[in-house]
Amino acid sequence: MKINKVNLSKVTTYRFGGICENFITLEDPNEILNVPKNMDSSNTFVLGKGSNIAFSDNEYSGFVLKPNFDFINTVNDENLLEVGAGTYLPDLSRYLKNNKLGGGEFMLGIPGSIGGALTMNAGSYGYEISTNVIEIKCYDLDSREVLIIDKDEINYSYRKSHNLNNKLILSAILQFEKTDSQIIQDKMTKFNTKRKNSQPSGIYNAGSVFKNSDNYFAGELIDNAGLKGYSVDNVSVSTKHANFFIAKKGAKAVSLYKLVQYVKEKIRDKYSIDLEEEIKFIGDFN
Ligand SMILES: Cc1cc2nc3c(=O)[nH]c(=O)nc-3n(C[C@H](O)[C@H](O)[C@H](O)COP(=O)(O)OP(=O)(O)OC[C@H]3O[C@@H](n4cnc5c(N)ncnc54)[C@H](O)[C@@H]3O)c2cc1C
Repeated sequence: MKINKVNLSKVTTYRFGGICENFITLEDPNEILNVPKNMDSSNTFVLGKGSNIAFSDNEYSGFVLKPNFDFINTVNDENLLEVGAGTYLPDLSRYLKNNKLGGGEFMLGIPGSIGGALTMNAGSYGYEISTNVIEIKCYDLDSREVLIIDKDEINYSYRKSHNLNNKLILSAILQFEKTDSQIIQDKMTKFNTKRKNSQPSGIYNAGSVFKNSDNYFAGELIDNAGLKGYSVDNVSVSTKHANFFIAKKGAKAVSLYKLVQYVKEKIRDKYSIDLEEEIKFIGDFN
């Protein structure tokens, strides 16, 4: 276990964030038992790869806990894997392909960790990680116990989990399907092409800003409201995909925050719809 002073802008895809004096990295799940006694869910943020969050530009006064548990173990010879929370989704996706296991092709283009994906119920192209979950091993930051939680207790829905808020995910048992390599490769190629054609690349962002619903695609509403390209300081609505808000180097989190509030207001005025954020703002934005 290491406790460091870290500039949070170095650990997220948006590159936003101030100083955190208590940034704790864990390399092994057993190290969780050694974390400071004054940590609990009220003063601790659990960080994955930082690909779905915007930290405030101000100093972060609590603890940030980052589990670097990067392992994939076979549980049986067939289709069950135990995956460490820090495992990078594209690495897991490639591992599955190499082992002729299907159902993880959608993860290839999502730059997060399995811990983040399990919390967010990450997904794309009709797939969601919750489909693969059997059980999750967590550390409860309040009761300080290691728990095994069944999928049923998490009550997954679109980009939402329950019961995980005050917990650090350590690992999960995930299930995939024995599949022909060519079928896996073809899906990966198809999803990659779709992503390249529809999403901005190589620029600081955290994927979709707002959730979609059964009744609308957030990007379509934003586009139809004429907001593509609209910007606040150095953060703008992508001209390629209106549900991606992209930041220039040196941009501030507060600009993203203001842009999100502005877009929500315009969509509420025009369509009487309250968009719900998929990205998470962490820290002080007032
Ligand atoms: C270019 C780009 C494309 C994207 N495309 C998609 C997409 O197609 N589909 C999609 O669903 N998302 C997409 N995302 C968003 C993001 O990658 C996913 O939500 C991802 O699962 C977040 O994982 P993370 O490790 O980065 O989590 P973080 O951003 O670090 O955290 C997200 C949430 O998970 C929690 N968390 C993280 N790790 C743990 C843990 N070990 N224990 C407990 N809680 C934890 C955090 O506290 C936070 O609440 C995209 C992002 C980018 C930048």
